[in-house]
Amino acid sequence: MTAASDTRTEALHDPGLAPVSSLPGVGPALAETLRKLGIERVQDLWFHLPLRYEDRTRITPIRDLVGGESAQVEGVVEAVETGFRYRPQLRIAITDASRETLVLRFFHFRGQQALQLAPGTRLRCFGSVRRGQHGPEMVHPQYRILRGEVPVEESLTPVYPVTEGLGQARLRGVIAKALTRLPDAATLELIPADLLAPLGLMSLRDALLVVHRPAPDADVAALTAGTHPAQRRLAFEELLTHHLSLKRLRANVRRHRAPALPDNADLRRRFLDALPFELTAAQQRVAGEIARDLARPVPMLRLVQGDVGSGKTVVAALAALHAVANGRQTALMAPTELLAEQHLRSFRQWFEPLGIDVVWLAGKVGGRARASALEAIAGGAPVAIGTHALMQEGVEFARLGLAIVDEQHRFGVQQRIALREKAAGSEVPHQLVLTATPIPRTLAMSAYADLDVSALDELPPGRTPVQTVVVSEARRDEVIARIRAACAEGRQAYWVCTIIEESEQLEAQAAQALYARLCEALPELRVGLLHGRMKPSEKQAAMEAFKNHEIALLVATTVIEVGVDVPNASLMVIENAERLGLAQLHQLRGRVGRGAVASTCVLLYQPPLSALAKQRLETLRETSDGFVIAEKDLQLRGPGELLGTRQTGEMGFRIADLVRDAGLLPAVQKVGAVMLRAHPRLAQRLTARWIGAAARYAEA
Ligand code: ADP
Ligand code: MG
Repeated sequence: MTAASDTRTEALHDPGLAPVSSLPGVGPALAETLRKLGIERVQDLWFHLPLRYEDRTRITPIRDLVGGESAQVEGVVEAVETGFRYRPQLRIAITDASRETLVLRFFHFRGQQALQLAPGTRLRCFGSVRRGQHGPEMVHPQYRILRGEVPVEESLTPVYPVTEGLGQARLRGVIAKALTRLPDAATLELIPADLLAPLGLMSLRDALLVVHRPAPDADVAALTAGTHPAQRRLAFEELLTHHLSLKRLRANVRRHRAPALPDNADLRRRFLDALPFELTAAQQRVAGEIARDLARPVPMLRLVQGDVGSGKTVVAALAALHAVANGRQTALMAPTELLAEQHLRSFRQWFEPLGIDVVWLAGKVGGRARASALEAIAGGAPVAIGTHALMQEGVEFARLGLAIVDEQHRFGVQQRIALREKAAGSEVPHQLVLTATPIPRTLAMSAYADLDVSALDELPPGRTPVQTVVVSEARRDEVIARIRAACAEGRQAYWVCTIIEESEQLEAQAAQALYARLCEALPELRVGLLHGRMKPSEKQAAMEAFKNHEIALLVATTVIEVGVDVPNASLMVIENAERLGLAQLHQLRGRVGRGAVASTCVLLYQPPLSALAKQRLETLRETSDGFVIAEKDLQLRGPGELLGTRQTGEMGFRIADLVRDAGLLPAVQKVGAVMLRAHPRLAQRLTARWIGAAARYAEA
């Protein structure tokens, strides 16, 4: 049977593949609205899972309402008031048998609404409670007017992701219709029974029915926490799908050819002889792993994990030498211009004496410089270094053989794919990804299932551990005195200014203000400033001056997070440390402790510290092991934060939670491996089911 007729037969027998318009009551308009949610087929509705549940099975007395929680209340309207204090507002006061008053506020309302809600009207409303000046309030609660006895809901109410023009109630109705099309349990399963049985999970059919329509006696606490067996079953399947799709991505890449890039021993020896240090054992091991990959005509897909300062750059340079030796080009990309510039300097310093040209291309390079960089790259320049600008349209490599991405947690899977497509013809480049965020094993298995992993688990010798202290903002003067003392001894310091908003401009302003204050407090010191709003040449000049010890104290924003390397800097102060994530603090702290002198990192915080913030800062004080810190960060904040905000969408599971469901991952790997080997067609159907319309477009 051909693949096409195979697919047609499947469609006939699989009611899930029928279009949503085959459901009664779903016309073209509704079908179009559903499409906006990525829902095109009946099975897309089965797998459109609730975000959470609302408990409308009981009525809470107004007296018992708790701020921040959602509740259902029933009461009689006591007073109605329309006002225009700052904007039009409708306020309704209701009371119940507990003799307390709840205020309902509406900012968008129709005149008629005020009339309908006359005093004496009985209401049932559901909403999130907040503590107002005069007691509990709900803003824009859902409500209905009660005439006679209306029973409360019998089971938890699922809340779905919705879109404009499609409310919860209507979507719930459509999903209920779709659920009547669920085939029997055995037919619905796509995971072979012999793989599934040992896991002791609920059947997929039962799991779907439970999450969409929890029974009245369902375990409310478990459903709310996401730990119900039905949710675990679905989480397993979702994690499996994610795993399978990354593995497939990998297999697709590995089907292509890549240029074989064997080592040139002479070139490598000349490079190593010129280095002012010996490679660590870890660097030698990882370089060996890379060399083996590169020597084969199959694309390398390798992630090098190494804590800040572990010496990833030289490992990358060794990989680039393989390409150079074989007449192939290397592209090295970093997420920030500052970091890319630092690589540029290292590579030029190492490669130019060997007669290897290094081309620079960042987003801000324009005009003639850009044109000549593009020309050099198209002409086969051996090494090109830059930001993501290297991946943009219009950048043509003559013979790209190796793509290196530094600090990969800021790049997403999509970008990894774009990169692979930069290759000419049927060959794809080898790919090396460097990350300083040590990724906990569980997360790595899931997030980077498409990559092999090497660990640079050893720091170069001669480093002294950084002593970390946690200090209240109230003791700022003591910190300033400490800087004065350190700089008087000829050492240098960073003062990192952080703010919570993701605005370069605000951050720059804050840094400027701090700079002014510190200049005033430390008149005898040369103070420098570095922030993201400065011109590249100004940034470069500031860094250069700091490196050359013309500046003693550098006030900087988090642009210095990655890469900056000044061994004489032995003191770092981080403002508002309580607001930053552990991984980021660890990165920042990695800027000191690079030389032989003992270094200190001062974490300044604004009191009072929340329990969570306290725990985070404690962790940092106690350990400098990036892996321990990453595990802790994962526990405390979840995977989205750890992988960087830009990846949260990508890792945005519908039901799975990598921390909560981490225990499922070994089974996911095992089942995934067997399915890819023995049941590829089922694996594909499973992916299509979960990923739905969005992925179908992406694959087209
Ligand atoms: P990261 O892994 O954080 O990118 P870098 O590659 O920037 O680390 O290296 C940090 C510093 O350590 C640099 O100054 C680099 O030259 C130096 N370095 C790298 N490897 C060694 C080594 N084997 N011995 C001594 N110093 C090294
Ligand atoms: Mg680095």
